[in-house]
Amino acid sequence: MSMVVVMQSGVDESQIEAVILRLNEYGFDVHRSSGVSHTVLGAIGVKPEFDIRNIKVLDGVSDVFRVTEPYKFVSRAWKSEKTIVDVRGVDVGGDEITIMAGPCAVESEEQIEATAEFVASQGATCLRGGAFKPRSSPYSFQGLGEAGLKMLKKAADRNDLRVVTEVIEPGHIALIGPYADIFQIGARNMQNYALLKELGKTDKPVLLKRGMSATIEEWLMSAEYLMASGNPNVILCERGIRTFENYTRNTLDLSAVPVVQGRSHLPIIVDPSHGTGFRDKVTPMARAGVAAGADGLMIEVHPDPNVAMSDGPQSLFFDQFAELMSEVRLIAQAIGRSVREPSTASV
Ligand code: PEP
Ligand code: MN
Repeated sequence: MSMVVVMQSGVDESQIEAVILRLNEYGFDVHRSSGVSHTVLGAIGVKPEFDIRNIKVLDGVSDVFRVTEPYKFVSRAWKSEKTIVDVRGVDVGGDEITIMAGPCAVESEEQIEATAEFVASQGATCLRGGAFKPRSSPYSFQGLGEAGLKMLKKAADRNDLRVVTEVIEPGHIALIGPYADIFQIGARNMQNYALLKELGKTDKPVLLKRGMSATIEEWLMSAEYLMASGNPNVILCERGIRTFENYTRNTLDLSAVPVVQGRSHLPIIVDPSHGTGFRDKVTPMARAGVAAGADGLMIEVHPDPNVAMSDGPQSLFFDQFAELMSEVRLIAQAIGRSVREPSTASV
């Protein structure tokens, strides 16, 4: 790992020497390059956890840059080929774009059965649904808990779908494990390090949502927690970040897709439901996500969004989901990828 230290123009020799001395004291090898008015110091042997502010505050220093990234296992430098996460036979990160769909929360047997059957018929391969919901208000519906997990798994198994469901605290991992094929870490928990470390000890795929105020680097550092704890099966999910914009619930940062793919080998999917917050914006942004190169989509779908217990306004009606699927299928083909064909001839 290395770091570049740029000295202010016109600093005197004693200040340069003082900085070199400090760098040596930290144990770094220093390579000096002095021009007419600028001196640049290259420091080699810097540990990823080194706080570069220790150098920024020194007299005469203009700027300090880290040359290498603070993460290792998630980086392209560590693994150059793309990772394909195997979710019990369903690939995430391969040529086929993985569609995860379902309600925000599991509400009843009828609701999850109907949704599972429909999304599977349209080419989805994973069924989403929360049984433990991280709600902004303690008075909002918190999920059905284990009863919801049972309904979710039954509906998924019946339709050959994989289950993706959220874990909101480490104490729930053992309970949720038998029902889930993918553990979802929600945006609000992206930096819940206790949760990251515990899920890192499992070998089940983890879907790591981007925190609503997290930089891409912070998000990748959270993925690093999972991988450094031993779990290589990490899927990233861009779900929108909070900005000054109010016409959407969040601002879906689709540029995160190529940025992440340039820096990391991990698959990345896009969630335009939470990313926009309104159902009329979901399909356009799903199309855009696929066009941007996402490895999958997470879409909220409900048999009757008007009575949904959470996130109804951003949940698609069944016919809207069918249309989304046929549109993203065309876009996938245009960029040399695919979306699974519907199983029913009716659409
Ligand atoms: C969800 O997937 O329903 C959810 C709560 O998402 P997020 O963590 O992205 O808000
Ligand atoms: Mn939701």
